[in-house]
Amino acid sequence: MNARLDRALQVSLWRISGGLLLALVLGLALGGLAWWLFAATLAALVYLLWRLRQFGHWLQGRSRLAPVDDAGLWGALYRIQLRRQRSDTERRRRLVQVLRAFRNTAAALPDATVVLDADGVILWFNDASTRLLGLSYPHDLSGHFSNLVRSPRVTRWLQGGDWSEPLMDVPAPGDDALRLGLRIIPYGQGQRLLVARDMSKLMQLEQMRRDFVANVSHELRTPLTVVHGYLDLIEPDQSPELEPMLMELRTQSRRMTQIVEDLLTISRLEAQDSLPEERVSMPGMMQTLRREAEALSLGRHTIVMEIRSELDLSGSPKELHSAFSNLVSNAVRYTPAGGRIQLRWELRGEQPVFSVTDTGQGIAPNHLPRITERFYRVSSSRSRDTGGTGLGLSIVKHVLQLHQAKLCIESEVGVGSTFACVFDNERALQPATSEELG
Ligand code: ADP
Repeated sequence: MNARLDRALQVSLWRISGGLLLALVLGLALGGLAWWLFAATLAALVYLLWRLRQFGHWLQGRSRLAPVDDAGLWGALYRIQLRRQRSDTERRRRLVQVLRAFRNTAAALPDATVVLDADGVILWFNDASTRLLGLSYPHDLSGHFSNLVRSPRVTRWLQGGDWSEPLMDVPAPGDDALRLGLRIIPYGQGQRLLVARDMSKLMQLEQMRRDFVANVSHELRTPLTVVHGYLDLIEPDQSPELEPMLMELRTQSRRMTQIVEDLLTISRLEAQDSLPEERVSMPGMMQTLRREAEALSLGRHTIVMEIRSELDLSGSPKELHSAFSNLVSNAVRYTPAGGRIQLRWELRGEQPVFSVTDTGQGIAPNHLPRITERFYRVSSSRSRDTGGTGLGLSIVKHVLQLHQAKLCIESEVGVGSTFACVFDNERALQPATSEELG
């Protein structure tokens, strides 16, 4: 590039020298040398300015033709600029191609894909968004997503800012039969990609699974009651040799009944979107739980109760009692005799927390992510020996979900565990006055 420029500079210098030489010859031949030289310099200057103006016009795109065949400096400048423009055009063409290919791919996706800016304004959406979200092109471009997809649940989720989990079971606007799963992927500077997938089939299957479990459990209830009843009718002294067998039969039928009851509880909880809210008197609840723990422990453990907050809780007393007593029962069952079990009600920051701490066998970290799954056990034999159904923590999880609360588990093998139910601060209620109670 430099060599070409040097050559062009040489050509231009030769031209100027040629002009000056001509002025010199004319000056010497005709007289008035200084005037000739001045005129030649002025002409060179005017020519320079005129070319500069041409170049400016050409850069602005007002004149189309570039004199690229000029061997001087101006020609070199035009050629450099032309090359740059061509490579820019080529780069832009390729970018447009990639962009078009990306848009075509996104447009053909079966999932609704919507690009939102930081304020939730729609910047772009694909064809599937029309079918699944009812957006129409170009009318809804630049509209606010929450105004177009009118659902308080979706709006709350969009404004919540925690999009780590998808929002499931959202009825499609305009077609209630369609159930959507919404996911948000934040990118760039506050922009968000919203992807809505038709989950109707999956939801249907999930519903079938729930119905199946609920129906099977329900159908098993009656025969089990009959078996249980007859077993109780058999007097041990009628056939003493059958006594151990009868004992085992009674234990197993009781276990089966408990499994069926727990499965029905989970099915009932799963079928509900929310629970009726009531004041749950926490001091009363703690006393009940302590009595239950003592009854289960039969004096084998030290049971300690700590009520550090006088607040009550807003929720369903029956379901919360079921969740809390599952945690208490686990603590008693998985803590060897001589251990200590602590029931605590407190405020952590602003959040009300009920927790059960034991000095039991503890749980290894690799089991923790799956511990609330149905029938998941660290050790099946130990769980069965202690009369567990494998459904206790699953019930706890469902009850807490219905109260928008979280189960936090801290555990160390051989040291003990803490199961904490952490509620939102809105669920904390000031203790009732005597008038309210009365
Ligand atoms: P299970 O009826 O088997 O106790 P859960 O759902 O209540 O079923 O608990 C699942 C598993 O979690 C149990 O089998 C046990 O291995 C473990 N687990 C629950 N609570 C405790 C605890 N306090 N200490 C140690 N392990 C526990």
